[in-house]
Amino acid sequence: SVVPGVPRETRVKLVLLGDTGVGKSAIVVRFVQGEFSEESKVTVGAAFLAKSLRIPEHGPDAAVKFEIWDTAGQERYASLAPLYYRGAGAAVVVYDITSPASFEKARFWVKELQKHASPNINIVLVGNKKDLGDTRRAVSREDARAFANENGMAMECEASALSGEGVVEIFKSVAMSLWR
Ligand code: GDP
Ligand code: MG
Repeated sequence: SVVPGVPRETRVKLVLLGDTGVGKSAIVVRFVQGEFSEESKVTVGAAFLAKSLRIPEHGPDAAVKFEIWDTAGQERYASLAPLYYRGAGAAVVVYDITSPASFEKARFWVKELQKHASPNINIVLVGNKKDLGDTRRAVSREDARAFANENGMAMECEASALSGEGVVEIFKSVAMSLWR
């Protein structure tokens, strides 16, 4: 039954994967708290945050509650990952557009997910630090798009946790993909 005015929520576990320093925690903080802090707080322990997003396109009550799992530095240890993304409905694989090495690492994570995660997982590729794109871009949008297309990913986009550009869109696209 639906209580009028109370959003009917779909829950989804969402995990972030990507090299250390690409801005995974900054993206989560921007989405959940709407802010960016220059101070890089290295994630300690398992960071878990929840946030709901209304999806008016799917009705006045429709909402998705994200259970967001941010890695706590274990991104270096591939062997820990399967535990981490077990039961995840979505994976946001992040690279830094100024770092080709981080893009290579993103390719690695996508392969890992294809091998070990649920076959229904929605994978989104995000090039972060778009604000640095004019002066320091080292990964082209074309390469990212080609990679996303070849791997049947739900979406490919660029964002900036610093400016906030494109951040809500990451989560919005994950939400929309749940109805597909
Ligand atoms: P994580 O290791 O992937 O969680 O990365 P962090 O969120 O800790 O960010 C690493 C560093 O990149 C920090 O110094 C952040 O301030 C910086 N950073 C994160 N997002 C952005 C962004 O969109 N633009 C810029 N210019 N710096 C960012
Ligand atoms: Mg972090």
